[in-house]
Amino acid sequence: MELIDSHCHLYLSDFAEDIDEVILRATTAGVGRFYLPAIDRGSEAVMLDLESRYPGLCYAMQGLHPCSVKGDFALALKHVEHSLSSRKFVAIGETGLDFYWDMTFEKEQYLAFRQQVEWALHYDLPVVIHSRESIDQTIAVIREYQKGNLRGVFHCFNESEDFARQIIDLGFHMGVGGTLTYKKSNLPAVIKNIGLENIILETDAPYLPPVPFRGKRNESSYLIYIVKKLAEILDLTEEEVAKQTTAHSLQVFQKNKV
Ligand SMILES: [Zn+2]
Repeated sequence: MELIDSHCHLYLSDFAEDIDEVILRATTAGVGRFYLPAIDRGSEAVMLDLESRYPGLCYAMQGLHPCSVKGDFALALKHVEHSLSSRKFVAIGETGLDFYWDMTFEKEQYLAFRQQVEWALHYDLPVVIHSRESIDQTIAVIREYQKGNLRGVFHCFNESEDFARQIIDLGFHMGVGGTLTYKKSNLPAVIKNIGLENIILETDAPYLPPVPFRGKRNESSYLIYIVKKLAEILDLTEEEVAKQTTAHSLQVFQKNKV
């Protein structure tokens, strides 16, 4: 069984003490690739270092997280632009709109998001989207730019079936992780109806650990709990879930290599 953790922040200080063991546990559990979403310049050096220590396993993205969009966002984007022109990345992200924490920089968030979507088109890279309290607005931006060439993921998807169908119609994928296992989640019901279509796996480690690890640090080896839950919801084997979601991930992230 080969799995892909399409969204994990393994370079954060939560993993500073034991990252090699974390990766070993995950590879032992079948995780063959780790896609590392960027947040901002502050954590970039550690991310790139992790990627170079694990070639063929860890893949870095480049981007500016909506929660890192502040007054100095133009400068931060300049750095992203320069970095994108200097070397290869697996995706642009994470980017998007987050109106949950703070609306102060709403206008700037839009500017940064649009700019990053334009770079995704320019470099023919997937765009990894973070959307919180903003699914309508985020989908609207993607719809504007989708002329058939844009691809990407709504990471940590946790919305209604209607939004899932809109995302599928746009040719986009949905990253599903720990929230699928939460008691209050509506996601199992949504997935029961849409199936594995355009679904990929993610942990968002160290955040959002699945049951039974709530309150603890999340890590990529826990991806297996998402596989089990999907298999249970859809009455499929775990192997079938792994096969389909891994194929979807490769379709999004390695389009030009497979
Ligand atoms: Zn993230």
